[in-house]
Amino acid sequence: MISPSSSIMAVDSTLSSVVGASFSEKDAKALQFIEEMTKNVDSVQERILGEILSRNADTEYLKRFQLNGATDRDTFKSKVPVVTYEDLQPEIQRIANGDKSPILSSHPISEFLTSSGTSAGERKLMPTIHEELNRRQLLYSLLMPVMNLYVPGLDKGKGLYFLFIKAETKTPGGLLARPVLTSYYKSDHFKSRPYDPFNVYTSPNETILCPDSIQSMYAQMLCGLIMREEVLRVGAVFASGLLKAIRFLQVNWKQFAHDIETGTLNPKVTDPSVRECMSKILKLNPELAAFITKECSEENWECIITRIWPNTKYLDVIVTGAMAQYIPTLEYYSGGLPMACTMYASSECYFGLNLKPMCKPSEVSYTIMPNMAYFEFLPHDDSSAQDSSRDSPPRLVDLADLEVGKEYELIVTTYAGLCRYRVGDILRVTGFHNAAPQFRFIRRKNVLLSIDSDKTDESELQQAIENASVLLKEFNTSVVEYTSYADTKQIPGHYVIYWELFVKDAANAPTGEVLSQCCFQMEESLNAVYRQCRVADSIGPLEIRVVKNGTFEELMDYAISRGASINQYKVPRCVSFTPIMELLDSRVVSKHFSRALPHWTPDRRR
Ligand code: AMP
Repeated sequence: MISPSSSIMAVDSTLSSVVGASFSEKDAKALQFIEEMTKNVDSVQERILGEILSRNADTEYLKRFQLNGATDRDTFKSKVPVVTYEDLQPEIQRIANGDKSPILSSHPISEFLTSSGTSAGERKLMPTIHEELNRRQLLYSLLMPVMNLYVPGLDKGKGLYFLFIKAETKTPGGLLARPVLTSYYKSDHFKSRPYDPFNVYTSPNETILCPDSIQSMYAQMLCGLIMREEVLRVGAVFASGLLKAIRFLQVNWKQFAHDIETGTLNPKVTDPSVRECMSKILKLNPELAAFITKECSEENWECIITRIWPNTKYLDVIVTGAMAQYIPTLEYYSGGLPMACTMYASSECYFGLNLKPMCKPSEVSYTIMPNMAYFEFLPHDDSSAQDSSRDSPPRLVDLADLEVGKEYELIVTTYAGLCRYRVGDILRVTGFHNAAPQFRFIRRKNVLLSIDSDKTDESELQQAIENASVLLKEFNTSVVEYTSYADTKQIPGHYVIYWELFVKDAANAPTGEVLSQCCFQMEESLNAVYRQCRVADSIGPLEIRVVKNGTFEELMDYAISRGASINQYKVPRCVSFTPIMELLDSRVVSKHFSRALPHWTPDRRR
């Protein structure tokens, strides 16, 4: 056994330089747990696989592969195939339709978690079991002990976190289907969490659990303003969420100032439980109202976070992966406060945490906790086609055997019954903590465009363009070439699609109105997560920029001048490189925006 103090020291050798850090016994235990898990990665993984396979031995899915009671890695690897969501869809559909037999898991499926990844335009449904909540809770419980190693005094104030629940629906068989965070915030694990001075939020539960996201945001921001001097950290799950909150303040600061000046809550907040809890918090405070008016009425919003919340030590927000595009904007609003990316998780499984949360965003590495699930890794090599065919089963590597500097695709086997499931994330090993590899999140496979939690792939974009270009037919016009760009210069960001058109009859060219309809038609064709984000104002209206004829040829010339091969040149379907953007933007002849919100309801289309 490791003594708590030696385990703390082992977490980071720079610890001695952290002045004044004090650790509670609870923290010491959590850090000791991390040490034990990371030192014994391989044996923990072996145990976890054994547990999963023995408890799920009689499931329909595992019986299919005739493991005959074996729970060892070799048998598992030789008999059980690596799968994608599409492979499991028949089983998932049966569970959704109400089949309660042990199909994937011997424990009853308690609900479905709706992933932001999509299949056939709808959110993926990830089966989960009740005890998974404990595993998620366990990972959450490790975050503050690690943070306390680096930032002292977090028990002396509060966290302003913008946390939201989202719409939930029921499957035909009556199981709930909702995002994993909605499931967590509505659970007793969250609602009845014991008091912990290191985890005090400015937002009361009632405001987080308010189903109307605007009322929820309003109340949470108001609490943050009222308690502004107590706030020590400001956060949201993803960077896009925090920026949305800042924009909300930009739009609504006069109402906030009014509420605080008069001590009365805006009548637009109608949720009775929110009104009741706000009545205990909101007090007449003309001085604070004047301060908010002074700060927010200024043209310049640089450092607005530190101006309003002067004691903020860091932002707690994920800025890795697709969220990296928001780093400059967050730096602007926060005056360069550190951005802590604390954890790496998904609907399928919570994976791990960042053991150096105050590092620069570009240096973030996550350590996968080996007790969360059984993890395997498919070596990822961009130069060879990586779609594993069934004829040549891919060779997967275990967590303990990964090599520094190499990239892998993450594959999980979970207690809830996903077996050798391809998550779709590409990770690079950057080093080890004890025997546990640490990972840089490189990217999600096949994602072209992402603004918020939406993930649009190449085929979805292609399909959307085909659907929209039907509207051009009566104008004898077609789309010759296209590319796209995720524009996040303004909040909310939006998709920009560059179109080069072939107009046969200039006298009958499509009007601006028709091109706006094309924008809308594209939005209607995009997946459910995109449409939900649009309806929630987390993504702005889609824009088509029509470029001059010959622009895409110029783009090719440019690529060739930079060394691309003429034979292998393909039009990039998404661009972000500044010279290419400048070239495209200098050739724009007209711009068009979607003028309506696409259709979205929590219910699935199929
Ligand atoms: P969802 O299942 O909708 O919760 O989405 C999970 C996905 O979000 C993961 O598979 C990753 O692609 C992405 N993700 C989650 N956490 C992080 C993180 N810390 N950094 C980058 N991407 C992340």
